[in-house]
Amino acid sequence: MSIMEDVLLNAKSAVDTVGKKAGNVFDKSKLRLASLDIRTELSKKYRILGRVCYEAQTTGKNYDKNIEKLVAAITELNSELARINEMIAKSEKKVKCTSCGTYNTRGAVFCSKCGTKLEQNVSEEEYSEEELLGFAEEIMDEDV
Ligand SMILES: [Zn+2]
Repeated sequence: MSIMEDVLLNAKSAVDTVGKKAGNVFDKSKLRLASLDIRTELSKKYRILGRVCYEAQTTGKNYDKNIEKLVAAITELNSELARINEMIAKSEKKVKCTSCGTYNTRGAVFCSKCGTKLEQNVSEEEYSEEELLGFAEEIMDEDV
């Protein structure tokens, strides 16, 4: 398959696929799988984007529309990834840094990224399977 065909076929379908997968997500292992899938898809998209930009520069052809689609798909995948990662972090009672937003392991005193002293607000209860399923449904609804 040529790069351009790949771009056109995948720009939208990837997001649809991820949305459908997220719909079946209700436990941590599935959340992790969804997270991994999205990251794999993201790196593929970034590679294609790089290639398309290269082709545009070297051939002088206008690929603006393809680039636009790719950027939109990447943006959507990134926000999807952020939400899934947040669900994983919350289900593991990780501590969110109030300064930079990084999730740190339970019991950490300082943020692993920026060094801010963490507030130990881990008292919030672990999400139940039903709650996680609820989140997945929310994602489904928004993506339709
Ligand atoms: Zn931080």
